[in-house]
Amino acid sequence: MKNKPLTISNLSIQPGEKIALALPTPELYTCAKIHIPIHVLHGKKQGPVLVICAAMHGDEMNGIAMIQKLLNLHLLKSLTGTLIAIPVLNINGLIMQSRSLPDQRDLEGSFPGSETGSFASRLAHLLTTEIFSLATHCIDLHAGEPQMEKQPQVHTLMQYEEAKNMARAFGAPVTIDTDSQRGLLWLAHKEENPVPTIIYDTGEPMRLDVHGIREGVKGIVRVMRHLQMLPAQKASAYAEESIVVNSPPWIHSSSSGLCRFYKSLGDRIHKGALIARISDPFGTKNKEEIIAPCDGVILARTSRPIVNEGDTIVQIVETTRSHEPILTEENLHPEPPLS
Ligand SMILES: [Zn+2]
Repeated sequence: MKNKPLTISNLSIQPGEKIALALPTPELYTCAKIHIPIHVLHGKKQGPVLVICAAMHGDEMNGIAMIQKLLNLHLLKSLTGTLIAIPVLNINGLIMQSRSLPDQRDLEGSFPGSETGSFASRLAHLLTTEIFSLATHCIDLHAGEPQMEKQPQVHTLMQYEEAKNMARAFGAPVTIDTDSQRGLLWLAHKEENPVPTIIYDTGEPMRLDVHGIREGVKGIVRVMRHLQMLPAQKASAYAEESIVVNSPPWIHSSSSGLCRFYKSLGDRIHKGALIARISDPFGTKNKEEIIAPCDGVILARTSRPIVNEGDTIVQIVETTRSHEPILTEENLHPEPPLS
């Protein structure tokens, strides 16, 4: 079926059009105009409206790079439905290299927002009315929190069939089944017209995680194929079965000092393996060894070499069996690598 015109920020976008528009944010005390860049690819054929957002936290760069790579893919020429890609939700945060907004609030947690609330709430309201009200599906791109690096992972509410299918199609090494409303997951909690949403986390703030960016773009393309926005798979590189868990616990240090890791993100470890050693920074004494409590995979870890007692050190996903590549339908038809 032929697509219909779409209106964003009083601009009418016709089927088959590909445009970049600038959505003005609420005004700051400088009265200087700040705009959020938005790419809209409005396919000729009607289909899902997929919204992909990055940099809700202004210090998270990986999602920006993923959207850049995605928009350069030739295969988007055969798009069905509509792709709305927002490389930077928090422009003010990007300018300041800060996680938060000028009012020191976090955009995450401010949705759906209010027309008369704080700056964060007004920005959330603007995005909700102009963009998220159009979405049928959503992918929210993040990095680890400050001083934390994360193995590529998807977070979603697996109780919703379509969100579960999106997470499966994405094919991240680990999927966290969560009922949290972090990021844009509030869209999936809406009472009226909930929007299937997944969060993809990789790397750390203020760094580009080349591996996580590449895997993220592949995952987004697989989701778009699943949603029939792109032609069916001709091919796909082997993706490992995603390990699905609830909320893996963190290991905290019980001493302070210099922390040296012996395992990397994504490493598969056996119970009893030495993960890290904390030593006296003023001498040679070892104060603590962080030992794997189970067989598993390292999902996240601190990026700080100096730790205080009680700090979070490492997060491990417990595995009870080997996760060898499995033959899913897409794996039977390997996809050429994305440039
Ligand atoms: Zn974030």
